Amino acid sequence: MQTDDVIELARRLIAIDSVNPTLVPGAAGEGEIAGFLSAWAAEHGLATRLIPSPDGRPNLVIGEPGAIGGDRLRAGGNGRTLMLYGHMDTVGAGSMEAPFAPRVEGDRLYGRGAYDQKAGLAAALVAVREAARAGIPGTIGLAVSDEEAASTGIREVLRHVTADAAVITEPTEMQLAIAHRGFAWIEVEVRGKAAHGSRPHLGVDAIFRTGHVITALERYNGSLAARTHPLLGAGLLHASRIEGGGEMATVPDRCLLSVERRTLPGETPDAVLAEVEAVLDECRVADPALSVSARLVLARDPFEIAADDAFVTLARAATGRATGALPDLVGLSFWADSAYTAEAGIPTVLLGPPGEGAHADEEWASVSGTVACARALVEIARDYCG
Ligand SMILES: [Zn+2]
Repeated sequence: MQTDDVIELARRLIAIDSVNPTLVPGAAGEGEIAGFLSAWAAEHGLATRLIPSPDGRPNLVIGEPGAIGGDRLRAGGNGRTLMLYGHMDTVGAGSMEAPFAPRVEGDRLYGRGAYDQKAGLAAALVAVREAARAGIPGTIGLAVSDEEAASTGIREVLRHVTADAAVITEPTEMQLAIAHRGFAWIEVEVRGKAAHGSRPHLGVDAIFRTGHVITALERYNGSLAARTHPLLGAGLLHASRIEGGGEMATVPDRCLLSVERRTLPGETPDAVLAEVEAVLDECRVADPALSVSARLVLARDPFEIAADDAFVTLARAATGRATGALPDLVGLSFWADSAYTAEAGIPTVLLGPPGEGAHADEEWASVSGTVACARALVEIARDYCG
């Protein structure tokens, strides 16, 4: 197996600026990196199918020629297809020094996107190539756009192709992740009444009233500790943003509080909105004049696959064989596109290299861990499709 060049591929991916333009207006986007990957695939005897998102941003399906056309991917010898997923976009460079000049120091590959998740993407694509070389059919790579913002890439891809199982190569420290939280963004609007600052009795101070709502929501967050998931712990709520008021001498007539609720498997957006409404009801009882409403702005599902699912068992054993250590089954703190592959009915696990610094000013992925990840993915392909 020729997996050592996975680091060279990861370096070349880091060297291409692919900052998500939804997050950073005017940023490079995924055009250049997708072009590079198509050329890389051709150079290695693989074919590429381009599936543009509605806004034209590229998503690639990469695999053996003949395996990636049509509405359904052509299955392997045993009738099964395996999808190895990575995303091409990154968050902005922040204050990172030389974000697109990858460098290796010891076991660390540094650069924007090294950990989240160009090392994982490189491991996925090298594994697709090695599976093809080893005569294991039915394994395809996905390189999608826009994971860091609206996930338009994976959603478009899943309208065109499916698979029987998927591995998402987001960073998991080489543990096998089988759950992550979802999230719901909720806006809470408190309405007051404007008045001259010298005559506050003629107005209603929306910001003062929001203070009571914040205190109640903080108490509600504390109460979430009573309900926990074995791998994920408790649901979470935090206050993300607050806007209100204007002129210094005017009692503010409106305050808008945005909160994020991280949800556990089984918690729906409607259910958590109803919980926030219940908190607001308590506030209304305490302050009958309070005028407040809440609305759901955006929600993404949590993800979970059963620990005893056949694909989990297979992926765990194959990873253990490749690395010499059976991976733990873990939950992840962050959300990932696995929510969408699972929603599409595809049994999904997450497996990616160790490292540090997702979205931070210093980011690195483990060199040896990235090679190990590529090897583990080939073994999963062998067991699943071979
Ligand atoms: Zn990521």
